[in-house]
Amino acid sequence: MRTFGLIGDPVAHSLSPAMHRAGFAAIGASASYDLVRVPADEPAAVGIEMRRLAAGGGGNVTVPHKRVAALAVDHPSATVTALGSCNCFWEMEAGIVAGDNTDVTGICRSLDAHLAGRPPGRVLVLGAGGAAGAAALSVALLGASKVLIANRTGERARDLATRLQTIDVAVECLDGSPTGVFDLIINATSLGLRDEDPLPAGFDRLSVGLILDLVYGHQRTAWLLAADAAGIECIDGREVLLQQGAACYPHWFGVEAPLDAMRSALYRDQN
Ligand code: NAP
Repeated sequence: MRTFGLIGDPVAHSLSPAMHRAGFAAIGASASYDLVRVPADEPAAVGIEMRRLAAGGGGNVTVPHKRVAALAVDHPSATVTALGSCNCFWEMEAGIVAGDNTDVTGICRSLDAHLAGRPPGRVLVLGAGGAAGAAALSVALLGASKVLIANRTGERARDLATRLQTIDVAVECLDGSPTGVFDLIINATSLGLRDEDPLPAGFDRLSVGLILDLVYGHQRTAWLLAADAAGIECIDGREVLLQQGAACYPHWFGVEAPLDAMRSALYRDQN
């Protein structure tokens, strides 16, 4: 029996165990996938848990530990090094833990399924944490013409823009509430995780063709419902969860992921 798990805080709400258990069953792997809560104020425990899980298989890392995970792996992928953020790890040889950032793959695949080869155009990224960095790199890889970053804490947005100077797209920060015309808006804030959260952005002063909400739940988020009502095309964060999870299977098992089985587990009993 191989052992996998999700390290983060909070983790109780995660759909990853249901998705991966269905995936493991579909490929005939004898493997478990469990939640491993490592409190936000105990980052030193992240590397210990990663090594424990990697010795039996591997796993994933989520908020708030992706940055610590990037420092803990022995063999980071080029994407982990570029973003300073790791969400997938495994043992590449005895005692050596490798890490990748499959959020980038997940965002690229989810967007590409909607864009069908068209470049994303002018993109607004809401937020400036690890997910925002992955979003900006993803749209740059897909050929975006410009990335604008808007964040509650302006200094964090400017730090992210500076870190992204090496990627092949113009990146700018926006101060205040964003307005104007965009081809794509990506919510990479944590707004939407709680029922009482305000929307990450309203659609009265923004014109947009497509939105991606990285925040996901058992049902469509309030932001997706508001966009639906405004006639805007939407991508659900569960699609990114699915695709970033699928991108782990070649690392973990050396096979492609069983997407249909994983997708049905994610959307079971949900709209
Ligand atoms: P993070 O590093 O903690 O960043 C959180 C971001 O949200 C920051 O920009 C923060 O702004 C902003 N924020 C938090 N509370 C806010 C508020 N009340 N008003 C406005 N902005 C607020 O987290 P992360 O790793 O980037 O992840 C962000 C979200 O993406 C999480 O919900 C995560 O679950 C989701 N995600 C989903 C997937 C998927 O597979 N669907 C993949 C990756 C991430 P400040 O800088 O001002 O604090």
